[in-house]
Amino acid sequence: MDFFEKLSDTAIAIGKEVSDRAKDVSSCAMLQYDIRSREGYLNELYQDLGKKYYEDHKDDEDADFTEIDGLIKELDEMRRELMEKKGADKCPKCGNYVAKDADYCSKCGKQLKGVDVEADEEE
Ligand SMILES: [Zn+2]
Repeated sequence: MDFFEKLSDTAIAIGKEVSDRAKDVSSCAMLQYDIRSREGYLNELYQDLGKKYYEDHKDDEDADFTEIDGLIKELDEMRRELMEKKGADKCPKCGNYVAKDADYCSKCGKQLKGVDVEADEEE
């Protein structure tokens, strides 16, 4: 193999390497995206499983969900505080906080507004 043949082979090899690297980069990006989306899905599954486990075992005698229980309680209080700040009303049926302009209770579905008194009397 003379010098020019060697040079030509080297150039071809380098060119192949560059295009392989470009393919690697794009397939890496795709693979990275696939990994991320599957990781996200896996985390969702873990979350669902954890929530289900909590619901199934929160009343167990030796259950220790102090942190979760505390957070749920804290969140309830914060939501109530937020609703009060927003000027929310309490649903007369279930006690759920509902927005002042809500037509129906989001929890029990009780109609809160738009009740036509005359229509009721006609019944
Ligand atoms: Zn209600």
